[in-house]
Amino acid sequence: MAEQKRDYYEVLGVDRGADDASIKKAYRQLAKKYHPDMNPGDAEAEKKFKEASEAYAILSDPDKRRQYDQFGHSAFEGGGAGGGFGGFDFGGGDFSDIFGDIFGDFFGGGRSSGARNNGPMKGANIRTSVSITFEEAVFGVDKEIELTLKDTCKTCNGTGAKPGTSPETCHKCGGRGQVVTQHSTPFGTIRNSQVCPDCGGTGKVIKDKCPDCHGSGYIASRKKIQVSIPAGIDNGQSVRIRDKGEPGVNGGPRGDLLVEVIVERHPIFQRQDMNIFSTVPISFPIAALGGEVVIDTVDGKVVYDVKAGTQTDTRVRLRGKGVPSLRNKDIRGDHYVTLVVQVPDKLSNEAKDLLRKFDQESGNSLEAVKNMEGKDNSGDEKKDKKRKFFK
Ligand SMILES: [Zn+2]
Ligand SMILES: [Zn+2]
Repeated sequence: MAEQKRDYYEVLGVDRGADDASIKKAYRQLAKKYHPDMNPGDAEAEKKFKEASEAYAILSDPDKRRQYDQFGHSAFEGGGAGGGFGGFDFGGGDFSDIFGDIFGDFFGGGRSSGARNNGPMKGANIRTSVSITFEEAVFGVDKEIELTLKDTCKTCNGTGAKPGTSPETCHKCGGRGQVVTQHSTPFGTIRNSQVCPDCGGTGKVIKDKCPDCHGSGYIASRKKIQVSIPAGIDNGQSVRIRDKGEPGVNGGPRGDLLVEVIVERHPIFQRQDMNIFSTVPISFPIAALGGEVVIDTVDGKVVYDVKAGTQTDTRVRLRGKGVPSLRNKDIRGDHYVTLVVQVPDKLSNEAKDLLRKFDQESGNSLEAVKNMEGKDNSGDEKKDKKRKFFK
């Protein structure tokens, strides 16, 4: 044989002294990963699966394991009727047990496990979203949303069968909800357990369907639901409404409705956590001389006293004008306002003259710099002034 066989313990990734449970666990993980049903058309996965299955067949059998420990692969070579793998019997029992577990893990959620577990189960949660304004997020709002909800059909009490009849036990699976299929492999037969295609895992089939729900056991209808959105909620957060999800199974409670809140952008305000940010233009004279400006906040207009000599991009804080805490709406963040000095672009001749005069007084004018250039060639002072001017 061309290919060198890997050590069975190495294949399963266990110690030579590993107990049966560890060997089984290791194999289950590999089988789950490489099973052909999970990797259709993947030759490498199939090879790995076969290799692991062979290793498991030997190491899970005490006699074979002993022989393998003693003689290695040669213990099983030579006796077989051709073919790569020796003449041993892979024996099905332990395998189907494992595959039952594996496929139970895969298909065990929701409906299919209903056939095995008839206890009450909570219904699934439903997700939806609602759009609100910036101010609604700040102060909270009650919204009405409309969505399609399923209810247990009253005509058949959720059985799906026409009144006076009842669902029958599925013939294909005998009510177990699972069917066992057999796979032939080079080293024996492997049995898989799968959700029954006839009953979808419920274990029951309905001959005479309920006329109202057509056998589903549920009636869907449009419902209006009030959503109370708390003050302080932020974009992407969800409000949970209990018992407005999918109906429970076997008398279990309904799931929940999760409403994701989408906050619309505001033309002026931005938000970061509990703080609000905005930009407010102020005139050049107000910036220079000081004076009152009107600032928009979520609480309405506020008059703010700008200090004389305010530079552009000065940030001021309006305490308590921010977003309330979700936990306690009496605690609020702040509103930060960036004051941006507007440079006038339309000036009367009179205003221009006044500005020129102001400019000369301030000593930063272009003319002042030009004059200095003529007189003084040495100076860092001149460069500083130029830099200041062109800044
Ligand atoms: Zn019905
Ligand atoms: Zn069935």
